[in-house]
Amino acid sequence: MIYLDYQATTPLAPEAREAMLPWLAGPESEAFANPHSPHKSGRRAAAAIEIARENVAALFPPGGRVVFTASATEALNLAIIGSAARTFAVSAIEHAAVFETARYQADSFEILPVDGEGLVDPDAPIPPGTDLVAVMQVNNEIGTIQSVSEIAARAHAAGALFLCDAVQAGGKLQPPENADLIALSAHKLHGPKGIGALWIREGIKLNPLIHGGGQEGGLRSGTLSPSLCAGFGVAASLALARQAQDAVHVEALWNAARAALPNFTLNGSAAHRWHGNLNLRSQGLDVSRLMSELRNIAFSAGSACASGSGKPSHVLKAIGLSENQARSSIRLGFGRYTRMSEVVEACALIAAAAADQ
Ligand code: PLP
Repeated sequence: MIYLDYQATTPLAPEAREAMLPWLAGPESEAFANPHSPHKSGRRAAAAIEIARENVAALFPPGGRVVFTASATEALNLAIIGSAARTFAVSAIEHAAVFETARYQADSFEILPVDGEGLVDPDAPIPPGTDLVAVMQVNNEIGTIQSVSEIAARAHAAGALFLCDAVQAGGKLQPPENADLIALSAHKLHGPKGIGALWIREGIKLNPLIHGGGQEGGLRSGTLSPSLCAGFGVAASLALARQAQDAVHVEALWNAARAALPNFTLNGSAAHRWHGNLNLRSQGLDVSRLMSELRNIAFSAGSACASGSGKPSHVLKAIGLSENQARSSIRLGFGRYTRMSEVVEACALIAAAAADQ
């Protein structure tokens, strides 16, 4: 199988897996201990978690703290509900984890539109009285990169908090230095599934969603998994160490894929974009038929979350595509472990199958 669905999830880095294995211990070692226990083996597990926390913290700006969660979805829920905000301004292309949570929590809800390129206008006015503004750094469907620092500054000028969903940007791009809350997910940066993080700027007070033993400074009760934390920590360090190298590789894959699919139109900006995301459309393309003919290529129709729901993507709609154009769109996602030969082969197969329809 050729895996071209890096926005849905990424393969676990071998180094992250190695770091996890010792903590998946049975009775033969003490590494199964509860990291919140005061005895020696518990303290050893707690120390491994704190090393992981420092490594994950290096992905964020200075001046805040990292709370581990079970996913970015949970981190975003903690930010949105925990902030007790009631009035929201969120971009039209946010992930459901932001949209649905803000909608659940909101007394009032303002949408910040995007242009045809999939970009939020950084000068768009923030309605007075807004408690929290949320704009993602990199979109999961079309890869567009938002001017999050400028938008954060405007949010602050309007007296609002700024939340950034940096799930698709983590380890790849500099985070916005002036955000108040930033969410990440380990499995989008070659770490394990089942762990995410919320970065909280010093001085910002949140209410916990999960109550109990008071772990994570009282913000997120429950026993942490040393294995998941260790895997996340190593994946984070590796992402930073390989950032430039990974970006060069992604650029080469992007150029090859674009050249191999000349009859497709790009959805979203080419310039303000993470180039590991290629969202394309071809008029009249039957995407379900294409996917069933190319079962050995893992790619997506629209976003992984929206596909299967039968609903056209809200992101493609927000950039002005008709329902038919949205339905004739595919998303190819690639990254660190994608080989050039895989991209060349997959694009040739996609081009041929599309031409045959
Ligand atoms: N935000 C974005 C932009 C995403 O792409 C995803 C996952 O698809 C999430 C949030 C949710 O992340 P998680 O799978 O860790 O809950």
